[in-house]
Amino acid sequence: MKNVLTIAGSDSCGGAGIQADLKTFSAHGVFGMSVITAVTAQNTQGVFGVQDISGEIISKQIQVIFEDIMVSAVKIGMVSQIETINAIADELIKYKAENIVLDPVMVSKSGFHLLKKDAKEALINRLLPLAKIITPNIPEAEVIANMKIRDISDMEKAAEIISGMGPRNVLIKGGHLEIDAIDVLYDGKNMKHFETERIQTNNTHGTGCTLSSAIASNLALGYTIYDAVKLAKEYITVAIRHSFPIGKGVGPVNHFY
Ligand code: PLP
Repeated sequence: MKNVLTIAGSDSCGGAGIQADLKTFSAHGVFGMSVITAVTAQNTQGVFGVQDISGEIISKQIQVIFEDIMVSAVKIGMVSQIETINAIADELIKYKAENIVLDPVMVSKSGFHLLKKDAKEALINRLLPLAKIITPNIPEAEVIANMKIRDISDMEKAAEIISGMGPRNVLIKGGHLEIDAIDVLYDGKNMKHFETERIQTNNTHGTGCTLSSAIASNLALGYTIYDAVKLAKEYITVAIRHSFPIGKGVGPVNHFY
């Protein structure tokens, strides 16, 4: 059994964050572990409060895991603030963590800032260089690459700019564009496109968390980056197709369809 670690925030309603990551790991047959960076008070209608976990206990959680357990892949999600980012970067460098998948979470679908505005530079400077792959959506890619993205050719330009910041691979998710859901994968040399049908549903809470955790699972299982992304895309597409409402707002995807 491969062990996969998520370093991310807790979503009390179970659709996104740590909860989505652990469900995704289980669905992929890998053993899931979690370092919690922040606790959110959240339901299907929005995020109503956040308590950040101290850098000290974040470091400690990472240390005790790596001192004891073989970690085959690490997914990083909500990192909240500079102290958190520095703690994660220091420890992952110290333990030479491999197969790091960075989901540069910034703003929730409901509009809540999950990354403090002053922490963007730290995310870019400290975490991007560690990533085997970074998985921004269009608004996140616009912030990181510092450019407006209107079409696929802009996505490719942004992927090149972000690639220059250190991650070995860049996957820009096109779901926010009006056109078909096309994602762009750039490995520093070649550009690949992944095209999937757009599924009409309101229940898309946690899609980004789920995709990045599926990629981390597949890397732990030994797949190449291309296959890890391709399989993760297939997984999230079916999980969205089987999504369901659990409250009054945006429901979760179905990990165990
Ligand atoms: N809550 C937590 C803890 C998250 O990590 C994320 C996204 O990564 C979200 C909420 C936002 O999820 P969504 O934008 O899919 O609603």
